[in-house]
Amino acid sequence: MSELWLSLTGVPAEGREYIYSDQSLWTENLRRFEIPVETTQPLSATLFVQPQDKGVFVRGTLSGSLRIPCDRCAEPFELDLAHEFELFEEVSPEDPAEASDLLRTAGGVLELDAAGLLWEQFVLALPEHALCHPDCRGLCSTCGANLNITACQCESEDGDPRLAVLRNLKINQ
Ligand SMILES: [Zn+2]
Ligand SMILES: [Zn+2]
Repeated sequence: MSELWLSLTGVPAEGREYIYSDQSLWTENLRRFEIPVETTQPLSATLFVQPQDKGVFVRGTLSGSLRIPCDRCAEPFELDLAHEFELFEEVSPEDPAEASDLLRTAGGVLELDAAGLLWEQFVLALPEHALCHPDCRGLCSTCGANLNITACQCESEDGDPRLAVLRNLKINQ
């Protein structure tokens, strides 16, 4: 798993911006968790990091394109990502890294888990229901046919009553 710890000691009070385009930050986890998503336009991210009184403020963007299977019909389709985020990681006075999963202290230096944060934001950027088209018709629950491509027999069972008449004619022959 990619590791990328960002030392917060050197970040000036006005903050600093970081740019990430190392694909392994995302592709390693996609493989590891066997997520059937490929990148078609390389992902890139920016992080603006600013240490504050009681924590660390982070604002960022994540963009790129993916090939992702549709939730309804399972056909892969292209999805553009343009994700923006803002978060505040609390730093506790006694044990600075205690309050946040994204912080650790190493040799007295407070560090931000940039790889963890960028993966978390990638997951959040994915739509809850990824659809190839807003009115994707999905798969027939009986025969599994992709109803965007073909109308199967089972679908017409409770469909147009005129079709039922035609079907009966065929059976009677
Ligand atoms: Zn679909
Ligand atoms: Zn069917």
